[in-house]
Amino acid sequence: MISDVFCKIIKGELPAEVIYKDDDFLVIKDINPQAPVHLLIIPIKHYDSLEDFLEKKDTALLGKALMTAHKVSHQVGIAEKGYRIILNEGEHGGKLVPHFHIHLLGGKRLGPKLVK
Ligand code: AMP
Repeated sequence: MISDVFCKIIKGELPAEVIYKDDDFLVIKDINPQAPVHLLIIPIKHYDSLEDFLEKKDTALLGKALMTAHKVSHQVGIAEKGYRIILNEGEHGGKLVPHFHIHLLGGKRLGPKLVK
């Protein structure tokens, strides 16, 4: 686990390539892209994890995370051919940044394997 770099990016304390922003979400380019398009959908309000989101019963905002991914997929031109959404949760899920986020990947045919 690394520190919450996403809160720092939201506060403007760290730079990022911002693709989209509204009152609820920031979408940035992943610093270590695993596909031609690799974006991170990050809630402005801090949630540690999916567990945290669900404990707080903020399901409307959780739904908006997927709607934001869908919207941005059109904005960046990957919607027609398709994309993959990934959510890493916890240690075994390989989550590194302790601030809820979902990955949006596309721009090429992605491999069939989810697990290396
Ligand atoms: P996860 O394993 O789901 O926590 O993924 C965290 C992602 O954040 C990784 O894909 C990192 O490459 C990405 N990342 C870490 N620091 C930054 C940063 N400063 N700007 C953009 N992406 C970052």
